[in-house]
Formats: sequence, structure tokens, C-alpha cells
Amino acid sequence: MHNQKIVEINKNNISLAIKSASFPVLAATLVHVVGDIKILDDLPKPKMAMLGEIQGYFTEQEKQLIESIALPLLDKYFLDTGLKDFYIPSDDEMHKIMNYIVGAEVSEDYVPMMLDELNLRPSKRIKNIVAPNKREMKDFSALIIGAGMSGILMGIKLAEKGIPFKIYEKNSSVGGTWAENTYPGCRVDIANHFYSYSFEENHQWSQYFSQQPELKQYFQTCFDKYDLAGMTQFNTEVSAMTFDDSSNLWSIKSINNGSEDSEEFNLVISCVGQLNQPKIPEINGLESFGGNIFHSARWPQDDQITGKKVAVIGSGASAFQIVPSIADQCDELTVFQRSAPWMFPNPDYHREVEDGKKWLLENLPGYSRWYRFLLFWPGSDQLLDSLFIDPEWQGGETSINETNDQMRQIFTDAMLGQLQDKSLIPKVIPNYPPFGKRMLQDNGAWLQSLQKDNVRIFTDEIQELTHGGILSNNQLHEFDTIILATGFKAQEFFTPICINGGDQFFHDQYGDSPQSYLGIAFDTLPNFFSTYGPGTNLAHAGSIIFNSECQVKYICSAIDYILENNIKHLKVKKDVVASYQEKLEARLNQMVWQHSSVSSWYQNSKGKVVTTSPWRLIEYWKWTKKFEASDYEL
Ligand SMILES: Cc1cc2nc3c(=O)[nH]c(=O)nc-3n(C[C@H](O)[C@H](O)[C@H](O)COP(=O)(O)OP(=O)(O)OC[C@H]3O[C@@H](n4cnc5c(N)ncnc54)[C@H](O)[C@@H]3O)c2cc1C
Repeated sequence: MHNQKIVEINKNNISLAIKSASFPVLAATLVHVVGDIKILDDLPKPKMAMLGEIQGYFTEQEKQLIESIALPLLDKYFLDTGLKDFYIPSDDEMHKIMNYIVGAEVSEDYVPMMLDELNLRPSKRIKNIVAPNKREMKDFSALIIGAGMSGILMGIKLAEKGIPFKIYEKNSSVGGTWAENTYPGCRVDIANHFYSYSFEENHQWSQYFSQQPELKQYFQTCFDKYDLAGMTQFNTEVSAMTFDDSSNLWSIKSINNGSEDSEEFNLVISCVGQLNQPKIPEINGLESFGGNIFHSARWPQDDQITGKKVAVIGSGASAFQIVPSIADQCDELTVFQRSAPWMFPNPDYHREVEDGKKWLLENLPGYSRWYRFLLFWPGSDQLLDSLFIDPEWQGGETSINETNDQMRQIFTDAMLGQLQDKSLIPKVIPNYPPFGKRMLQDNGAWLQSLQKDNVRIFTDEIQELTHGGILSNNQLHEFDTIILATGFKAQEFFTPICINGGDQFFHDQYGDSPQSYLGIAFDTLPNFFSTYGPGTNLAHAGSIIFNSECQVKYICSAIDYILENNIKHLKVKKDVVASYQEKLEARLNQMVWQHSSVSSWYQNSKGKVVTTSPWRLIEYWKWTKKFEASDYEL
């Protein structure tokens, strides 16, 4: 009934759609419809906002009451008066709506960030740089490397400003992560109504956590809408870049459709991501395996799974999605696991979005924005406090403080409740604190598949690969196909591009211990910025898109400054980087990702976390709001 297709706006459809509503959000939208914040006083109050709980813990009676008040108001809005502009509350009223939705006081300092995210005001005019004594646009050119989520975003924002740029993309299409990871089951694990650009909504996500083809299509649609094709060179891989101090230009070497090419740019923005270069594990005999072997991000077009004996090496985020998706197809499926993943109970993980919900997102004023806010708030900084290690904690190596220990218990109970095969307990219950590595979404699919008759999980170390299979615990297991779900070279930033900012090669200088300011600027790389750089991965909150939007805003503000002041050369100051790094490392040292019992892709070869951000989103948002010229040598 709730999933009935709704197209037209009529009385029947409005009442049908409301059944799919998030009621705290529905209540908030009534303010837009009636133009009076006081309407909230007459409605039941949500108890609180929690990840995965979109109904504010309303009882059925409370929902019915809201429905009975909302229906006549919506009928009137849509049918009697016809569609018209809806009421935009004042900032103070918006704050009250925020408090109402989350059932708590949203502290003052979050309000500007949330208003920005809500983006409910008519869009502000884009600032074009046109004043007379400014640098002529034709003398300026920027290169964006990569056309994934971040590169497209950067392109959109530069295009809006009228700044000349090119995008070099090594692949033949856009999407980055969402173009390359075509393995079965690949999907987001951050809800899609939040994992999307703040300024480009998609009301038609088919699932709450949509799959790779739909994500790829979303980014393609954005790329097309903003007309970026004319600026983009596909099949063009940057191999080396060198900064020339006398001309203040970057010389970019690339492989363009198989041939070497070179071009100069004033400014380079890396949008190559952290998770783009597959990591092939160093296992003895890897080359000698005689069957099919491939990395999860290089999934073959032909079927190498059906009816085969398949091994999956790894049990991180990709394996977690692959295993349930292929288990029934394989003759035998064996998972080789180094450490078990923690999972967060989430019954919506594979759920379809109801048509009524899509209708509300599309038609009801403010609904999509407040729904995004409801996802954003509990998924932003609410968790961070619980991720600090309590130095006095006596609870052992599997938790870091009291709250973390309570969560460990909840997650453990949720897993135990799914295990009929008790022999799996020591293998699947992690032996490190929850949130120490990327949390995965538990709708039962992972443990259900591990308990299938044709599926096994081994936790002994792999000794070597042989022509026929995998040797582990001195036993040879034969396979037709081996899937390397072994992640990415996340700590080797910008690899394999050979970057020389004038003094030294970046990788020689830093190896896998990069030093940066905000993960955006580097004191050895002039006229260079990065998105999704060191220390900007998000493990406690939110979607990477939020951080990329912060970075792109900062970079645009820097470009404004460069052009307005005719700056030829800028490089972040060494002491600015040093003090930022000191703060960053001090904070990271207190956090769960750096705990002695955790080893993960967040860490470099020395065990130091280099990929992931310990900052509150509000902190990072404030620091990246505006470029400060005084932080730079000009
Ligand atoms: C399987 C998987 C699932 C994920 N799920 C989530 C999730 O649920 N939520 C979340 O927030 N994040 C998730 N992530 C992280 C994800 O990478 C980011 O959300 C986001 O897609 C990063 O976008 P990006 O543009 O910065 O990098 P990418 O998407 O990696 O794009 C980089 C682009 O740069 C190009 N490129 C690289 N090197 C060169 C070169 N030398 N020359 C030219 N072009 C180059 C690449 O071809 C690619 O197109 C996931 C990652 C993976 C791998």
C-alpha cells in the first residue's frame, strides 16, 4: 500500500504519501506551509534523533495526531490555493525547527553550518571576478586531476565562477569510486539522502543506501547538468608534475590515450581521492596462482563466480558487501579474514525507498532539506565524544571508555542474536574497540551468509598462494577464483604521480607520513591544493561529500584571493603546517583509531593514523570557511 506509485497531486495521493513520512520532518514542513512557527506548539514533540531512527520515537497515536493536523493543511496548500511560494522562516525560527526535529537543543554554534547545509534560502548570487585591476582570466588556468565526486564538485564551482580550468581523468568516464567499484553489492553505507551534494538533491534514490550504478549515474547527471564535458580530457592520466619557480607554473606530464603529453597550469587541484589505487597484498606466490585472481575494484566483465570455488581475501567494507551478494552463486565460498568487522544494526541497509517518500521529497516544501538535516544531525558530531580514549579506563583492550563499552555490548548482542552456529563466535566478534575501524552496516546479511552451508571463514594467516590455491595453517585449499578485497593504498597520497614542488619529490620527502594544512595545502607544493587529502577521511560521522564541499569552498576562496590580488605564487607557511600537524596528531593520539589494539587502513606503515579526521565537522567547517592569506607565503 505504501509503495503504490504516486504521480499526480490529489487528495488521495497526499494522504497516501503521508503514510511514508518521517513525522518529525512532516511536522517541520507544516511551518513552511502555514507560515507560522507556532504550529509546532500544537504538535507532539519528537523524543530524540538517533542514527537510523527517523520517527523521533513517536508513538502511533502521536503520528496519527500529526497526520490528522497535517492532512487538511496540505490539502489546502496543494489543492485550494494552488502551488505557491512557501514560507521561509527566519534564522531564529529555523533554529527552533532544528530543536524540534532532533528533540534537543542544537547549540548556537552549529546553526550557521546547518543553515548552510539546509540551503533553504533562494540561492545567493555567484561572485564573479570582474573588477578592472584583477588578473585577466585568460592568463590563468587551473588543472583538476580526477573526475570523481570531488573533481566534479570542484569543476562545478570553478565553472560557476567563470574560472578557466581543465579536468584530466585517467578513466573513460566520471564517477571515480563509483565507476571503478562494480563488484556485486557495491553501495554506500552512508544514507543517500545525505551522501549527495548539498546543492544537488536526488529525490528518486531507489534505496536508502543505493547501489553503485545509481551512484555513478548521479555523478554523471551532475557532470552533464553543469556542462563539464567540454573541460574534461578522459583517458588522460597525470604521471608527473613539476613546479617551476621562475615561471610559477606547474608542468604536467600525462599519458593521454596512450601517448605522452605535457601542459602548463598556474594552479593544480588534486581530486584523486584516497581510495583509488588498489592495494595488492604482499603474499608469497601471488603470481603463481593458476586460476582467476582480481582486486575487488577491478571486477571482471565475464562471470568468474558462478559454480566456482571462490576465495575472498579480506573482510573489510568491500568483502562485507561482496560475500552476501555472491554466496548463493558460488559452489564454495571461503573468506580469509585478518580481523572481524564491527557492525552497526541497520535494518534499512538494503531497503527500497517507498514511492510515498519520493513524492514527499519531490513535492512537499522543505521536506527533502529537513529530512537531510535529520540524517545529518545524529550522523555528524554526536558520536565523537565517545571516541576519545579514557586514560583511566580499566575495561580491557576491547573498549576505550564506558560509552564505547556499552556500544560494544549492544553490537555484540546484536551479532550473537544472529548466530545459530556458535562455533563462529570467536571468529566474528571483533577483539578491538567498536569504531576502531570503519563501522559496517548490519542488516543481517553478513552473518547469514557466513552461516550458509557452502560458506566458510578462516582466520589463520595465509602462508602462500600456490598454482592451485591458498596455503593456510599448512593446508592447501583449492580455488578457481581469488578475490582480493584488500583495500587501497590510502596512505600513499597522490600515488603514483611523481610530484616535485621545486625542492624535492613529495613521496621521497614524506613517504606515507604526509604533512599538510587542513589536508588541503602543503608547504612544499606551491600553487597546489588537494581535496580528500591527509587527515580528511571521515570515520566518526557524515559523508565524505561534506568534507569535500568544505575543501572546495576553501579552495575557491583562495582562488578569489589569487585573482583579486594578482598572486603568482603562494605556498602555505611551514609554521602553519607544523602547528596544524601538532594539533592533529595530539588529537588523533587520543582517539579510538590510534588505540593499541587497532590496526587499519587509517594508519601508515608506522602505525600512525594519517588518513582520517579527528575533528568535529563544525571545527573543520569553520576552519575551511575562508582562505586566510596570512597563512601563506605570497
Ligand atoms: C567501495 C567504496 C565504498 C565507499 N562508500 C562510501 C560511503 O558510503 N560514504 C562515504 O562518504 N564514502 C565512501 N567511500 C569513499 C569514496 O571514495 C568517497 O566518498 C568519494 O567517492 C571520493 O571521491 P573523490 O572524487 O575524492 O575520489 P575518487 O572517487 O577516488 O575519484 C578520484 C578520481 O581521480 C582519478 N585519478 C586518480 N589518479 C589520477 C591521475 N593520476 N590522473 C588522472 N586521473 C586520476 C580517478 O580515476 C578517479 O576518477 C567509499 C569508497 C569505496 C572504495
